[in-house]
Amino acid sequence: MSDELASLEPKIAIAVIGDGCAGLSLAAQAASLPEHEIHLFSPQIDTLEFDHVWGYWQMDWLQDVIGLADKTWHRWSIQTADTEIEMEASKHPYQVVTRKKWLGYCRLKAKQNGVSFNTDMSLIDNFSNEHVFDSRPPRTGYNMMLQHFIGWEVQAKPGSFDDSKAILMDFRCDQSHGMHFIYCLPFSDSQALVESTVFSPNIEQDDFYEAAISTWLLDCAGVGQFKVLRREKGAIPLGLMRRHDQNYQGIGGNCGAIRPSSGYAFSFIHKQIRKAIRSFEESKKLIFVSPHKKIDLWMDRIFLSVLRHQPQYAPRIFSALAKSLTGDEFAKFLSGEASLKMRIKVIFAMPVWPFITALIRPERGA
Ligand SMILES: Cc1cc2nc3c(=O)[nH]c(=O)nc-3n(C[C@H](O)[C@H](O)[C@H](O)COP(=O)(O)OP(=O)(O)OC[C@H]3O[C@@H](n4cnc5c(N)ncnc54)[C@H](O)[C@@H]3O)c2cc1C
Repeated sequence: MSDELASLEPKIAIAVIGDGCAGLSLAAQAASLPEHEIHLFSPQIDTLEFDHVWGYWQMDWLQDVIGLADKTWHRWSIQTADTEIEMEASKHPYQVVTRKKWLGYCRLKAKQNGVSFNTDMSLIDNFSNEHVFDSRPPRTGYNMMLQHFIGWEVQAKPGSFDDSKAILMDFRCDQSHGMHFIYCLPFSDSQALVESTVFSPNIEQDDFYEAAISTWLLDCAGVGQFKVLRREKGAIPLGLMRRHDQNYQGIGGNCGAIRPSSGYAFSFIHKQIRKAIRSFEESKKLIFVSPHKKIDLWMDRIFLSVLRHQPQYAPRIFSALAKSLTGDEFAKFLSGEASLKMRIKVIFAMPVWPFITALIRPERGA
């Protein structure tokens, strides 16, 4: 069919629920879905007042984001009580973009491409269920593993941080409540995001994370005086979860985009949207599926079981993972792009016993 005739075809009206990462990232792709008329629904239009950063490794499906990144690190490290593993990547550096910037960009691009924004949720009933794409949070189960954290963006005196290197995990903090590490993203030599992150089923009181941040700043970074510029807090469910509403297709975290072993979702949401757009080009059906490979999901269940039942092994496991791969391989491994060779290297680097016991009781999810 010619392009002219195709443009006369009636468009498929679709409803997207939620104006978070997945909803707006999909709406921003309206130009790649010219056969669709996109209507985005959210009971309250997000004012973008609450901000945080999204971290990801640069991959080819993130072209739109890369130019907006707030900071790029080609070097990062994993630190345990007795060793620091430094990694360097040339093709896949670690980057961050602020939520405000990314969602603001998506909103603008969506509006320019004719997406309508609606607050009256009752209008969703006018769409057939197969054309409703739901990004509301998935159903979480009792006692699920969570990644929970508080982060402070701090201002200290110049020379306090080395902004050429991100610290992805520093295990020199209280390990008595589950796997716990400090994540430090230095934006300059005087400004950094310092986050206390725990993997466990139980969210702690705020002062647990805050004490960990202050102690780490003083004891490990030598920073005794600082001002807190911004605060972020979150709890990301880890594991397989049920959709928010079984009647609709899910997208984003509501369609398995959160990587069960790491809580990373930003990059996977983009991978999922790209795959759905490609599937439409081939089959003329817009279908969203989990962006993770089956083998990764299986390995994650084993891995999560180790973290739940034997968190004391976490520093050894993550340092062994980092030692076994180059920086670019590490980035690909955590972005769901591991080759067979990488998987074999990682498996042989792992301590044997914790994984054998975890094989008997893999993590289930909700
Ligand atoms: C503080 C924080 C930091 C994070 N950092 C990272 C990171 O560095 N890297 C990374 O990869 N991932 C990170 N994540 C995880 C993940 O990327 C985010 O959770 C991501 O926002 C998931 O996108 P989503 O669209 O699935 O869900 P959301 O962005 O949460 O969007 C859900 C939408 O549903 C709407 N909604 C909720 N309930 C209802 C309802 N009842 N009716 C209608 N609408 C509703 C919400 O308003 C929202 O618009 C972080 C998460 C948090 C919370």
